[in-house]
Amino acid sequence: MKGTFPIEKFKGMDTPFYYYDTELLRRTLHEINEEAGKYEGFNVHYAVKANANPKLLRIISSAGLGADCVSGGEIEAAVAAGFPACKIVYAGVGKSDREINLGLDNDIFCFNVESLAELEVINELAGNRNRTARVALRINPNVGAHTHANITTGLAENKFGIAMGDMGSVIEKAAGMKNIKFVGLHFHIGSQILDMGDFDALCNRINELQTRLERSHVKVENINVGGGLGIDYEHPNRVPVPDFKAYFATYARHLRLRHGQTLHFELGRSVVGQCGSLITRVLYVKQGTAKQFAIVDAGMTDLIRPALYQAYHKIENISADGPLATYDVVGPICESSDVFVKAYDMNECRRGDLLAIRSAGAYGEIMASQYNCRRLPAGYTQEEL
Ligand SMILES: *Cc1c(COP(=O)(O)O)cnc(C)c1O
Repeated sequence: MKGTFPIEKFKGMDTPFYYYDTELLRRTLHEINEEAGKYEGFNVHYAVKANANPKLLRIISSAGLGADCVSGGEIEAAVAAGFPACKIVYAGVGKSDREINLGLDNDIFCFNVESLAELEVINELAGNRNRTARVALRINPNVGAHTHANITTGLAENKFGIAMGDMGSVIEKAAGMKNIKFVGLHFHIGSQILDMGDFDALCNRINELQTRLERSHVKVENINVGGGLGIDYEHPNRVPVPDFKAYFATYARHLRLRHGQTLHFELGRSVVGQCGSLITRVLYVKQGTAKQFAIVDAGMTDLIRPALYQAYHKIENISADGPLATYDVVGPICESSDVFVKAYDMNECRRGDLLAIRSAGAYGEIMASQYNCRRLPAGYTQEEL
């Protein structure tokens, strides 16, 4: 089964480009609101780093989600797209002074602070502006996730967050800082997580930490569990919307929220991943000695995930329905890692055929580069064509 695309419209267009199925995005957002809405105090933020295309950001902010930002530029993009500052959270191990000031000037909901050194700087900068910064401490929960090594973030060896053993003392120091208000705890264990057991493990760890904090009478207003829910890269047509029901139910069942606490989520990939496809043209079909190559006009500069994480993306020849043939689908960039997939069966290709590289809505367009002096790919929504 293939996805449905406005192929007649595509024919006259310059490739490569990203195509966003905004109807699917809206359906996904509806499902998120529906499932998270079943529980008291659940708040969902969209992790802007997955895709900051302004057209998508508008749709997501209109659906009522908050924004999770990891840079000053993302705060600016979120504000421009209509996310209210009171729903913006800001994480990142290396926030610059300019970025912190931007967060203060916009009066964002919360800084997710990743070290004592950072906390001291935020206190000072907030003092200069006569403001109080709301902060949550990002705690490294030392919980592994069953995902690619480059996208686990919650292990003690990762650079992110404050070690559990230091949590108490940093909270105590925060309490003594004049321009800091401690409002919560933040966690994020990784990305493309499909095993709900990983989220269970995070819940158990948070329960332990909360018990520990209660003993020292520390009040925590909100808990932020980050993002990480994965998508089905193998079956984008069969599973276009991730299982948000199971995801939110896992937290509802395992996390023991205290009276009045709110729970925050930061979903990126699971919101936008399936709605985007990278559309590319076959330039040449080349017979190698032992294999055959489909050389396409998109490369790792347009979609770097296969080269960076050995990620798999389903590829469909949307111009042809003929017999299957086996190809290595490769781009034009002067790097041997510029390969989308190897030994892959698809409908026989000819020069000029259009291919859809599926599930490319997250960490696709936003990670594009101009290496080899290439143009950045355009991004179009369904409505625009
Ligand atoms: C990347 C990131 C997210 C989103 O992760 P997804 O796997 O795309 O859901 C959420 N929170 C933080 C702090 C992140 O760095």
